[in-house]
Amino acid sequence: MDRLADTLFLSDEHRIFRQQARRFVQERLAPHVDAWEAQKGFPREVYREMGRAGLLGVNFPEEVGGAGGDLLFGVILGEELVRSGSSGLGASLGTLGIAVPPILNAGTAAQKAAWLPRIMSGEWISALAVTEPGAGSDVASISTRAVRDGDDYIVNGAKTFITSGTRADFITTVVRTGGEGFGGISLLGIETDRPGFMVSRNLEKMGWHASDTAELSFTDVRVPASNLIGPENGGFGVLMLNFATERLLLATTAVEMAQMAYEESLRYTRERQAFGRPIAGFQVTRHKLAEMITGIDVCRTYNYALATRVIAGDRPIKEIAIAKNASTDMACRVIDQAVQLHGGFGYMREFLVERLYRDIRLYPIGGGTREVMNEIISKTII
Ligand SMILES: Cc1cc2nc3c(=O)[nH]c(=O)nc-3n(C[C@H](O)[C@H](O)[C@H](O)COP(=O)(O)OP(=O)(O)OC[C@H]3O[C@@H](n4cnc5c(N)ncnc54)[C@H](O)[C@@H]3O)c2cc1C
Repeated sequence: MDRLADTLFLSDEHRIFRQQARRFVQERLAPHVDAWEAQKGFPREVYREMGRAGLLGVNFPEEVGGAGGDLLFGVILGEELVRSGSSGLGASLGTLGIAVPPILNAGTAAQKAAWLPRIMSGEWISALAVTEPGAGSDVASISTRAVRDGDDYIVNGAKTFITSGTRADFITTVVRTGGEGFGGISLLGIETDRPGFMVSRNLEKMGWHASDTAELSFTDVRVPASNLIGPENGGFGVLMLNFATERLLLATTAVEMAQMAYEESLRYTRERQAFGRPIAGFQVTRHKLAEMITGIDVCRTYNYALATRVIAGDRPIKEIAIAKNASTDMACRVIDQAVQLHGGFGYMREFLVERLYRDIRLYPIGGGTREVMNEIISKTII
């Protein structure tokens, strides 16, 4: 039987797209995932291949090189990329999903024409740089400064934890152009071949091994003022809108990771014997599986409902914060249970649930922590 979320919210086009995306991911990516996780990276060519297949810009407008699909196409692609077996791979391939929307929403026609087709085709790798060594959750206190000098800005500062940052060609960068607080923040598009830009470190991580995560430094980087995205000192609002979609996509990805852990657990507990029967025969195991699919189905349906509201033009900020916390907490719980159901094998690198366990830990942190989501939710109810 079809899943409730699919029945309620997906069109025939969405379903056909899922089959196409799944075929691409399973044939072209999945066979290499173990090697890419071990090597801690994947070939640049994958971006171009995804671009040629029309996947990179699936939910972006055709005028800028995308395929013109709605957000649910992006959700489906994110889910299918996770099903490669590496959510890190999906994260790096998906950084355009956070780097591009500010340009689409607030950029000039010239910026869109110059940057977006190169990103959608996979010629350029893009990244979004918000977080700094001294400021993460408290975005309004970032200190990377862009000072106007004639027709340019001169940028000085540092960013950290930037996904795809070690090899990005273009970075949507959050900078301070004005005074203290959120009113002094702007967005600048920075091409990384500009003198003074440097990748200071490729960071070692618990999970997401196929994805690079960089610390970046900017020393007197001269950037044309025409690279300013949106109004000067008006970047904070653009960024907050961007966070909403990012968080929803993190939520839907987390649900798919839980789904995979559930499927692995179902298969394993049917096969694994203990005390003369499959461990799925124990009521406690069956109940764990029942609780897993309960959380997965409820979160998926809630998330897809929110995606349709976003497609309709709403920005349900509180509900997206609820979705992120509910989905990522559920996924952490489900994946932890999956490791437990696999016994000692669940702790072994060769089992998918081990990778899921390491990778999922990021989801209540990245894109806004659980505590920050609770702040957003609580401000609307108190
Ligand atoms: C693998 C990875 C990839 C990432 N990719 C990117 C990227 O591509 N681009 C980018 O810009 N960033 C990226 N990030 C950064 C990520 O978004 C931040 O780590 C996250 O927003 C938290 O910021 P922080 O690490 O500075 O933690 P902090 O803000 O220092 O928080 C530390 C702790 O304090 C809590 N806390 C903070 N404020 C409050 C409060 N008001 N009330 C209660 N508790 C609070 C937090 O919830 C957390 O538990 C990435 C991070 C990782 C780990």
